[in-house]
Amino acid sequence: MTGISRDAGWRRRSSTPAAAGAPADIVPVVLSRSAAEALAAIREEIGDCTRCKLHGLGRQQIVYGVGNPEADLMFVGEAPGADEDIQGFPFVGRAGQLLTKIIEAINLRRDDVYIANVIKCRAPNNRNPEPDEVEACEGFLFQQIDTIKPKVIVALGTFAAKALLKTQDPISRLRGRIYEYRGAKLVPTFHPAFLLRSPERKRDVWEDMKKVRALLQEPAG
Ligand code: URA
Repeated sequence: MTGISRDAGWRRRSSTPAAAGAPADIVPVVLSRSAAEALAAIREEIGDCTRCKLHGLGRQQIVYGVGNPEADLMFVGEAPGADEDIQGFPFVGRAGQLLTKIIEAINLRRDDVYIANVIKCRAPNNRNPEPDEVEACEGFLFQQIDTIKPKVIVALGTFAAKALLKTQDPISRLRGRIYEYRGAKLVPTFHPAFLLRSPERKRDVWEDMKKVRALLQEPAG
């Protein structure tokens, strides 16, 4: 997998001395590639992916990610479900509607944030993604994170939190703390699908989202 850089590039500039080995009038310069363009390039690199077995196990389409390419806040879930597989966007089913409410509870709109999953294809019967599937796919999520450079990442549920933090601890142990992660603050919280089954845990998620709101308001640096 090749890394996608937002700012590497070349252009012709005859007045500047050339780097050793480069053609005389070509020098490396910093081009400001937008986050939207970099995200589009990552999506292009994924292509019609056959890197893991999920492409042959009934997935309809790749569910890449959606939202503001320069979001301060990013949500990471596990994998697309049936609704997402049909529509091509993450978190559009019942759990997604609850996620939208969670976002709005801190006075943001879905369009303000970026939403993606650890793996981009639906697993049969929504089974947990398997280690080889995660290994084949997670690099693209890392590229998305490194492109968007959010201030805060919310890991939704055990699977996302474990995959990002490379731990075996369950979400019940991971939540309640803030982790440094790829230049962002990572806040693990319960998955909205779990909240649909256990609405009494919504209070915990609200506590986590208040922390998220405070982190977003901290000055950069
Ligand atoms: N659950 C997830 O983890 N991701 C989705 O996109 C939908 C449901």
